[in-house]
Amino acid sequence: MKESPAPRATLSRRGRGAGDSAALARHDRPSPRPLFVTARHVIVDPPTVIERGAVSVTGGKVAAVGPAETLRPARGARRIELGDAILHPGFINAHCHLELSFLKGRMLVRAPFTDWIRELVARRGAASPAMAANGIREGAARLIATGTSTVGDIATTPYAATLLARCGLRAVVYHEVTGFDPARARERFTNLKARLGAAPAAPLMTHGVSPHAVYSVSPELMELAARHAWGRNLPLAIHLAETPEEEEFSRRGVGPFRALLEEMGLYAKGREPGARPALAAARSGALRGALAIHMNHPSRGDLALLAREGAAVALCPNSNAWFGRDAGAHPLPRLLERGVTVALGTDSLASNTDIDLRAEARAVLRAFPRLSPEQVFAMMTVNGARALGLPGGTGTLRPGAPFDAAVTRARVKRGASPLLAIIGSSRPTEWLWVEGRAVRRGGES
Ligand SMILES: [Zn+2]
Repeated sequence: MKESPAPRATLSRRGRGAGDSAALARHDRPSPRPLFVTARHVIVDPPTVIERGAVSVTGGKVAAVGPAETLRPARGARRIELGDAILHPGFINAHCHLELSFLKGRMLVRAPFTDWIRELVARRGAASPAMAANGIREGAARLIATGTSTVGDIATTPYAATLLARCGLRAVVYHEVTGFDPARARERFTNLKARLGAAPAAPLMTHGVSPHAVYSVSPELMELAARHAWGRNLPLAIHLAETPEEEEFSRRGVGPFRALLEEMGLYAKGREPGARPALAAARSGALRGALAIHMNHPSRGDLALLAREGAAVALCPNSNAWFGRDAGAHPLPRLLERGVTVALGTDSLASNTDIDLRAEARAVLRAFPRLSPEQVFAMMTVNGARALGLPGGTGTLRPGAPFDAAVTRARVKRGASPLLAIIGSSRPTEWLWVEGRAVRRGGES
């Protein structure tokens, strides 16, 4: 095994966009009609709020934003006057498993994590493809109704991406791979490549890989997946440091994860990484520019390692609450201090009651009341874009950004924060646009 993390010549695998086929598809798409949208408040980016603002949109991108009286609509633009409402960037849910939406309300609450996994495996095995497909459609509809324009989704089957591609959301689909037996690493990797090859070339979709976690992926398979992703500029996501037991297994091959793998006939003796989870991932090259999901239990040196490797973190507060974990124990403030990008995710409906990113933001504010509304709103938007490797500007309404926007109907009192009004709202979003196309109009999808 290598002694040090992989070389860091170019840190960011994020932000390089999709492959050629996706770029071509985007180019071939006819442009949506120009728009001119006015609202009492326009949120351009977390610190920039314009009162009585307007956004002019051409070719699906923000052409101009500013006070309404200073802007002119483009020729032939459709005018939408929202009145007392807040027009803001659509939310970016950095971590979800839409495939598991059919498990809503059926899973153990506050169970030990490995018991939850046992139940998950059993229920998935018993589910029909139609149940899973319905769950994906309903999950996507819920994202749209709650103002989410982009999702970072984990997929284990090809049809998840195909269904998602039809619903109008922007998505980064991480194709998941698991396999702890090193003897089968090549076979699992070949299967992953086949799934990537069959993934739909949809204009709003980027494909990436997700070696699931250090307790479910052998170091050999982790390295194969990470190299493949790095060589092709594909985004990579990994579940990391979710529970203390993960470290027990990763370092010494003991504890509940060992028992689980043995029970499933998947344990390979002495093949655990022999290092703490983040270091194990880094040694396999799977932390470089990656999205580290959870990071609830960093070990000594992990925050510096994440910063060095250019990794971002997805925090899923309500999934943590599902398992009875202490919300305030997350290293979020220390990560932000180090300059690590932290985005918000909902995780799946198998460990959450909803996939509304505003509920996650409220949970963050409750657990960390010292964070500013701007910091939390950034975690719902620009940080998510960065964490998923989307082009600069995504997650804002700055000129040049894709017009991915939502509308919150709220009257903001003088001196109050419109960002808090957005986060505090649980009403359905009125409109949702993705790349200038309305996927929800005046409250209807
Ligand atoms: Zn997850």
